[in-house]
Amino acid sequence: MPVQMKALVLEEYNKLVYKDVPVPGIKDNEVLVKVMACGICGSDIHGMDGSTGRRIPPVIMGHEASGIISETGSGVKNWKAGDRVTFDSTVYPLDDWYTLRGSYNLSNDREVIGVSPGPYRRNGAFAEYLPVPRHILYRIPDEVSFEHAAVVEAAAVAMHGINISGTEPGVTCVVTGTGTIGLFIIKLLKIFGTSKIIAIDINPEALKAASQAGADFTFKPGDEDIAGKIKSICNGRGADIAFEAAGMNDTVNLAVDLVRKGGKVVLIGNTSPKVDLPLQKVVTGELKLLGSCAIRGEYELILELMRDGRLNVKDQILAVAPLSEGAEWFRKLYNKETAPGKVILVP
Ligand SMILES: [Zn+2]
Repeated sequence: MPVQMKALVLEEYNKLVYKDVPVPGIKDNEVLVKVMACGICGSDIHGMDGSTGRRIPPVIMGHEASGIISETGSGVKNWKAGDRVTFDSTVYPLDDWYTLRGSYNLSNDREVIGVSPGPYRRNGAFAEYLPVPRHILYRIPDEVSFEHAAVVEAAAVAMHGINISGTEPGVTCVVTGTGTIGLFIIKLLKIFGTSKIIAIDINPEALKAASQAGADFTFKPGDEDIAGKIKSICNGRGADIAFEAAGMNDTVNLAVDLVRKGGKVVLIGNTSPKVDLPLQKVVTGELKLLGSCAIRGEYELILELMRDGRLNVKDQILAVAPLSEGAEWFRKLYNKETAPGKVILVP
């Protein structure tokens, strides 16, 4: 094993440096993964300038990754060097009250890979090697490439929102915000039998992608009488479920506005820490507001949908680039100089 590796280090806010750092060691219950691909997440881009408080430098970001096991800890069974793997972005304690009840994504003292919010600092996968606890590993099927496997995390976040919604075949759904997560929600709703999917975004290119992903109707938030038009598309009542994937005041309010009485609003985006709530509409309409946090075991389903070809990922990948060019890609994404889509970095 080499002792040094290349990594993309956030040395200060807005300053990413590609440099040599020591190869991390592993604990008994961990494997060392040689990273083959790692996607840039919106939370990395927003985190880079300090505005979210969740990427306090110095830190190596990156939590949407895939790779090959190069070394296993002494307590690791059923995994060996050479195995192709991806992993959950959340490292959760196994003895937590929530974990023991199946809600590991809500467990106390959980940590996210490539995140440093203050109480902890856990380096991520914008590096050649990454230690990963064995209990968050998933095997990548032979049919799925490393680049595609790096997008499983985002698709699993979308699938978790759909699971939280308790959706059924035949319902009508609105999706506000059609970035990576929103597009996966649209594709997965289509697979699971939603009758009508309405996509809303400010970006015309994102709406084009939404149509290609399977949205039946697309709107911009400012379109004239958007609520009236969507109501008539949805049987004169409004949508059964809204998936809110932008996380801002206006989009949350729009989502609340577009669901029928008794409808559900699944809140996935959380760019703004606070939003206004139209309390009377929620109370008198008996709306259900459902938070959806990260992932709770949706990896296997997503990997299977990718393996059998039902879930197409390729159209959502904007670029695959060497990690050495990572700082430049971050700059472009931060300044919104690129088309929509996921950028994957390869160490
Ligand atoms: Zn992410």
